[in-house]
Amino acid sequence: MVSKVWKDPVWSKVIAVAILALLSFIGTWALDLLPPVTNGLVSAWNWVMTDVAIPMWLLLLLLVPTGLLVVAVSSALLEKVRSNPENMPEWKKYTSDHFFGARYEWQWSRYNEPEHFVPFCTMCDAMMTQFVSPSFMSPTVQLICESCGHKGVEVEGSRGDLKRKVIINIDRNARLLAKEQQ
Ligand SMILES: [Zn+2]
Repeated sequence: MVSKVWKDPVWSKVIAVAILALLSFIGTWALDLLPPVTNGLVSAWNWVMTDVAIPMWLLLLLLVPTGLLVVAVSSALLEKVRSNPENMPEWKKYTSDHFFGARYEWQWSRYNEPEHFVPFCTMCDAMMTQFVSPSFMSPTVQLICESCGHKGVEVEGSRGDLKRKVIINIDRNARLLAKEQQ
């Protein structure tokens, strides 16, 4: 129906004229409206710029939430910039490596220390478990995959010693990466 009317030469002219009339009406109306709008903006600006006397305690009270908001917003922005992989230093992207027959994954703490180490099996990718030998004189610790039976390197010492050795390795490699990027 609409396309039929539109294709009709007489009707299409009538519609075109009607649209033009409507547009010119809207245009005139908008122009008439303009002075009050600019007047409104001027008076709003004047109102905002008015001097008022307020007690100092109220000013301080208002400054506290404002300061907190500024700190919160800027720290959130900083965190966003930092967590962007493009802005991340090369050593911070280093979160996985092979040590003592296992593939370790870890995260960097906000104090730039590796944390949350998890050893994974190099054969089947399952999480590995630490087994401490019962020997009192020379205790050893070894990572064992309970899924496929793969065994990591036997390390002298306790669980704490194994963790320390892993940290030393991560720390050395991360510092090498940081030096390369300089
Ligand atoms: Zn395995």
